[in-house]
Amino acid sequence: MKVILVSYTSNAEAMLVLAKQTRLLNSSVIDRLGKILTMNKEERKKELEYAFGSISSAWEFVQYIFFLEGVSRAFTHQLVRHRVGFSFAQQAMRIAVMEDFNYYFPEDILSDKSAYDEVVEVLDHIKQAYSRLLKIGIKPEDARGILPTNVLTNILVSCNLRSLSTLLEIRLCYRVQGEFRDVARDMRKEVLKVHPRFEQVLRPFCLRYWRCRFPTKAQHCPIFNDPEFSAHLVGEGGVPDAERERYLVEKWTRLTEKEEE
Ligand SMILES: Cc1cc2nc3c(=O)[nH]c(=O)nc-3n(C[C@H](O)[C@H](O)[C@H](O)COP(=O)(O)OP(=O)(O)OC[C@H]3O[C@@H](n4cnc5c(N)ncnc54)[C@H](O)[C@@H]3O)c2cc1C
Repeated sequence: MKVILVSYTSNAEAMLVLAKQTRLLNSSVIDRLGKILTMNKEERKKELEYAFGSISSAWEFVQYIFFLEGVSRAFTHQLVRHRVGFSFAQQAMRIAVMEDFNYYFPEDILSDKSAYDEVVEVLDHIKQAYSRLLKIGIKPEDARGILPTNVLTNILVSCNLRSLSTLLEIRLCYRVQGEFRDVARDMRKEVLKVHPRFEQVLRPFCLRYWRCRFPTKAQHCPIFNDPEFSAHLVGEGGVPDAERERYLVEKWTRLTEKEEE
């Protein structure tokens, strides 16, 4: 799987501030943009804090386009459930001949030889049957029905900062299937390379609102079960102070990076 950030709003901070300040605008937009672009670091920081702490419609003026390469159809089916602020373009199995398809093996199947062998045997069988169907004149759009859900595909995804923030809130959670969490982690990583100051709105739900959405189902969650995090997520723990928050977010980031290895 590979996440490529193909395109993004290059002057994103200025666009965010401009979108926020438009409500006050009674002079030339060019003058206002000029003022925003020449703000000092402190002024810019204050404006961004306001943009992130108030109504999030201004975030919709920052755009991202990702190419997700070698992801499963099972994943893309989940991805396209995100309806608001997203556009998708996907490789068509109706047209492409998929005789040499690749397959996504989840971690638990990869680490269990008998499960792995079982899957490989079925895949061989599917490949042969798919080829035979094409040979006797069945169209790819009809033969594709026997391909596995984890067949690999590519998808182009366009979204804005607001919709991305909502997706990451949901999909960086440990309740989410591994492949989606991996993609969400890499989308976040790619965006932070170009827009590091947007980190505060690119987190899982628990690290944004300091509460777990699924406390009764969190028995395997490494965050919920870590005393340093649970001190804030369980009971009356509440929001950590800024220094503690930074420490916990860094700890969470390290944890997700370890999973990547
Ligand atoms: C752990 C997990 C398990 C899941 N299990 C299932 C399952 O078993 N079956 C299943 O069908 N799906 C399942 N889903 C998918 C889930 O129900 C959502 O479809 C998916 O997460 C997209 O989220 P969303 O609707 O918030 O996103 P979007 O569609 O992008 O919407 C973003 C936000 O816009 C607002 N919004 C969007 N549409 C409307 C609307 N029509 N009316 C009012 N407000 C709206 C909401 O505030 C919403 O949160 C699961 C998701 C997860 C993470």
